[in-house]
Amino acid sequence: MARYIFVTGGVVSSLGKGLSSASLAYLLQSRGFKVRLRKLDPYLNIDPGTMSPFQHGEVFVTDDGAETDLDLGHYERFSGISAKQSDNVTTGKIYSDILKKERKGLYLGKTVQVIPHVTNQIKEFIKTDINKEDFVICEIGGTVGDIESLPFLEAIRQFAIENGIKNSLFIHLTLVPYMKASDEIKTKPTQHSVKELRSLGIQPNIIICRCERPIPIEQRKKISLFCNVSLDNVIETIDVKTIYEAPISFSKQKLDQQVLSYFKVKTKKKTNLKPWYKVTNTVLSSKNFVNIAIIGKYVNLKDAYKSLDEALTHGGIKNNLKVNLIRIESDYLKPSDIKNKLKGVHGILIPGGFGKRGTEGKIAAIKYARINKIPFLGICFGMQMAVIEFARNVLNIKNANSSEISKKCIPVIGLLNEWEQGGVFYKGTDKDLGGTMRLGSYPAKLLPKSHIINIYGKSKINERHRHRYEVNINFKNKFENKGMFFSGVSPDNKLPEVIELKKHPWFIGVQFHPEFKSRPLSPHPLFSSFIAAANKYK
Ligand code: GLN
Repeated sequence: MARYIFVTGGVVSSLGKGLSSASLAYLLQSRGFKVRLRKLDPYLNIDPGTMSPFQHGEVFVTDDGAETDLDLGHYERFSGISAKQSDNVTTGKIYSDILKKERKGLYLGKTVQVIPHVTNQIKEFIKTDINKEDFVICEIGGTVGDIESLPFLEAIRQFAIENGIKNSLFIHLTLVPYMKASDEIKTKPTQHSVKELRSLGIQPNIIICRCERPIPIEQRKKISLFCNVSLDNVIETIDVKTIYEAPISFSKQKLDQQVLSYFKVKTKKKTNLKPWYKVTNTVLSSKNFVNIAIIGKYVNLKDAYKSLDEALTHGGIKNNLKVNLIRIESDYLKPSDIKNKLKGVHGILIPGGFGKRGTEGKIAAIKYARINKIPFLGICFGMQMAVIEFARNVLNIKNANSSEISKKCIPVIGLLNEWEQGGVFYKGTDKDLGGTMRLGSYPAKLLPKSHIINIYGKSKINERHRHRYEVNINFKNKFENKGMFFSGVSPDNKLPEVIELKKHPWFIGVQFHPEFKSRPLSPHPLFSSFIAAANKYK
């Protein structure tokens, strides 16, 4: 029977609940247990798919096509377990399912209420699609005290009673601030946060205290006493130099041991921290570096390209290099500034994106990378922009564009049904914006004699997608005659998946998002190769 670990947060947001959950998952897994990670988000959107990255950071995409919270990316990167649609739920989704049932009359005339109907629906989600896992870690988004998270906290309280207290564990992550003026570590915010949680009927079993410096025993004792938690279960987490240190740090603090002893589970298997020591060492001690420019619309918000930043770092780990990310806002990138702004850059990356804003800056940067033979990687929108640049400047189709951007253009990029009779591909492109894209893992075949097939070392790949528009396959010959090779296609040959330039050391565009599948312990080959090329260019 699965044991459930609920992770809540208090005092402030962004304390690293996701990273703590992911690290715990790794530690338990490496002791031989089967683990699952889930995120319960209290906001009203059905999923983060329609949210701006400015609001919520990156939208992470799973193999089975769910648009989820970026914490699921952390989970995958640390645990190596591919997340599923059934691992992320929001208040919006819970209510939407309830309201559908209500309209069908499935509540048999009853008044539909937060308790029991919303809480039951949440509990159902927590239990669903479990497959012989030893531990299910459920992170509750937001901070204790938020109005929105109340139904979730009530649901996990009920769940623990119904599932057996012995099979349920509550971990509460809080901030323990250090006051410089008085040179003191303050436990009061933690006490208040736990008091709030207890007033909702939840007694945490383990408290993880985030602090910028070690917490002296006196303060630990205080937290233990006032929060009703044994001293061994007051775990500190001090700011780490790199996130890859987190599993090491939690292991030193015996988080996994405390969890196992709570559940009275024994194992002889020790955690394997070697890979994390290796990765941490490489990240902290690499002397050589490459400078990679990321040119996009959301560069000012760090979390907007979370998986991408991570994947580039993984590429650096593979090559024993530090990767400096130079973020360039595409909106303000004028063609006349390009040379100046890209000085000292060893590789140019254009990430995924939507809409017209900033596209001309991206296209100008791609031209610069193409002509000056600077390694270039275009991801999704970035690939589409590379195709537009080539059409305009090499094929001389001056009005080439994407029908996403201009309705009066020659659409070298467009919707499949714009050029294929009856080829309606998506569920409702001009109606709903949420959940209507080509989402999730799709196969692609890589063609012989291409650069991409060498990079992957195989011809059949599966990568995650999140897009509505496609490169128009009808232009294939025109492009290939001038040196842009459509080197990866969907198995039915209808959708270009990869483009590359013949006469360029490293110029690749991919319609998919390889960054979602890169992990620190197994860097994605495309990023490893891109970083190696950037290093060579240097
Ligand atoms: N806006 C483009 C499309 O819908 C690209 C999407 C993306 O980069 N994820 O096809």
